[in-house]
Amino acid sequence: MRGVIDYRIARRALVRQVTRGVVPVTDVCDAHPELLRAARNVGQATARTCPICRLADDRADVALDEADTLRLVTYVFGDDLRRLSGHVVWTREELDDLASRHRSFTAYVIECCLVCGWNHLVESCLLGRAHIG
Ligand SMILES: [Zn+2]
Repeated sequence: MRGVIDYRIARRALVRQVTRGVVPVTDVCDAHPELLRAARNVGQATARTCPICRLADDRADVALDEADTLRLVTYVFGDDLRRLSGHVVWTREELDDLASRHRSFTAYVIECCLVCGWNHLVESCLLGRAHIG
């Protein structure tokens, strides 16, 4: 897909800084209550585990049993969306529908941990009729 920006490198660098103690855990586990609510109610489950919970687990030397705590939440922003700008998209179908009805907007996928509040941008992508093809 065109216009996709992957933030995995930035994410990995940040996790490394937390590992080294350069960035405090409280700085990265600061999910806004609205984001946490969206993650809990409509967030997409992922196969991955939270990098911060995993760090804590490595230190405690216990197995991670909270497998389904890292959720993906998609927000859409753009002038073309008007009042829908800034909204959370619940399903892939809803996103496809928005893309077919609007000229251009950006979708941001945020991962959020329900346990510790870790949150980070995973990817962003340009969607809409202007970006098809
Ligand atoms: Zn976590």
